[in-house]
Amino acid sequence: MFNLILFGPPGSGKGTQSEKLIAKYHLKHLSTGDLLRSEIAAKTALGLEAKQFMDKGSLVPDHVVIGMINDALDKNTDVAGFLFDGFPRTAVQAEELDKLLNEKNTCIDIMLALEVSEDELIKRLIKRGETSGRSDDTNEQIIIARIAEYHKKTASVADHYQKEKKVMMIKGEGSVEEIFNALCEKIDFIRKQNNC
Ligand code: ADP
Repeated sequence: MFNLILFGPPGSGKGTQSEKLIAKYHLKHLSTGDLLRSEIAAKTALGLEAKQFMDKGSLVPDHVVIGMINDALDKNTDVAGFLFDGFPRTAVQAEELDKLLNEKNTCIDIMLALEVSEDELIKRLIKRGETSGRSDDTNEQIIIARIAEYHKKTASVADHYQKEKKVMMIKGEGSVEEIFNALCEKIDFIRKQNNC
């Protein structure tokens, strides 16, 4: 198996690059943001609970997203690997993910971290809000709250994987194709090294 975390602040291009990466490497895409939005659309109890946090730009409680990821891992036993997008977003989520993967005799191979300046992030998210239909993209205060949550709770998740020397930084500005090629170069290197 080959398991990858695509990491970076809101608006750094994780969703766009994930689509291209899963097609090329045949990975199962697990985006907690997408999973949560499906729960909201289906009006489940989990979705209703999550919506209150998402509408404010806050993170959803750890137990909610960890439960969702646990279910998704159990449902997808026959895959080449997972691409985690928007998860883990806290230190607790990172520890739980390691445990869940360990129980399945696998682990995270690499975290690829997209770096984008704050001005560019805000510009991109406001632009996305014009067409995405996402209420958390249309209000600048909520966008700023999401970026603040990233700095407060999420950025340090990289330290967790850095301890195992599993983090590689990628410049997240430039054309979609340029960024994709840079990601693929790192992935190909790691796959060769890890023999997967
Ligand atoms: P973005 O990263 O562009 O903000 P996402 O779709 O990844 O978009 O996340 C949207 C929202 O969903 C977040 O602001 C947060 O409220 C919630 N969310 C997504 N993933 C997680 C997670 N792993 N832990 C907690 N909350 C999450």
